[in-house]
Amino acid sequence: MARRKKIYEGKAKTLYEGPEPGTIVQYFKDDATAFNAEKKDVIEGKGVLNNLLSEYFMLGLGQVGVPTHFIKRLNMREQLVRSCEIVPLEVIVRNYAAGTMSKRLGIEEGTQLPRPIVEYCYKDDSLGDPLVTEEHIAAFGWASQQDMEDILSLALRVNDFLSGIMFGVGIKLVDFKIEIGRVYDGDFQRLVVADEISPDSCRLWDMETNQKLDKDVFRRDLGNLTDAYTEVARRLGVMPKNQTPVTKPTLIN
Ligand code: 5GP
Repeated sequence: MARRKKIYEGKAKTLYEGPEPGTIVQYFKDDATAFNAEKKDVIEGKGVLNNLLSEYFMLGLGQVGVPTHFIKRLNMREQLVRSCEIVPLEVIVRNYAAGTMSKRLGIEEGTQLPRPIVEYCYKDDSLGDPLVTEEHIAAFGWASQQDMEDILSLALRVNDFLSGIMFGVGIKLVDFKIEIGRVYDGDFQRLVVADEISPDSCRLWDMETNQKLDKDVFRRDLGNLTDAYTEVARRLGVMPKNQTPVTKPTLIN
């Protein structure tokens, strides 16, 4: 069997050249890292859960008209996505204070924010993904003014969608991170939600108990990470034993 060409090996995913030009295969690994890879482990089953959950969120976003890079899930660990140029920003949306915002501003974790707050970090592991302002983004040409308007709108639409889905299963969407990709259709570029959306990149707290159901379980040694992610998947009706895609995949043109 011909070997696939590896394009990129990240901390939680490996990217391979896809079967057709303009496509990429995302392989979800079981590797977990935190604090800029200072803490590492292999958590059995994490990749499968993130693959299924990310498929579920990306398909749902597509169905409400939010463009994503997702094409279809291929198997339990891989999905086919559109190849795109990643904007070098981590786009973070926060509904409740937690994590670095709580540390930076001294706001108690769990405090509801007056409105969703969007932050941008420059994607550079060697610098620890520093927080940047729109001034930096414009001055260094990471994204145009128009891109930033589109990114803000995408981020808030993703927030509304995810908050609603989570609310429906008794989970508070505290915050999350997304990445944005540029895809080119002829001379036109458009921005799509790329990478993944999973409990690795969101803070998810049980509405009643505030129990953490996300990667903080690993970061803060709060218990079994697979159990936490399985609970999210169970509540959403997305279980690993379900071998078929949760909804019919749609091709984005
Ligand atoms: P914080 O800035 O509080 O560390 O993170 C805010 C949110 O963005 C959290 O939901 C966190 O999981 C997510 N996030 C921030 N940086 C990264 C990152 O490098 N990788 C992943 N997967 N998520 C991140």
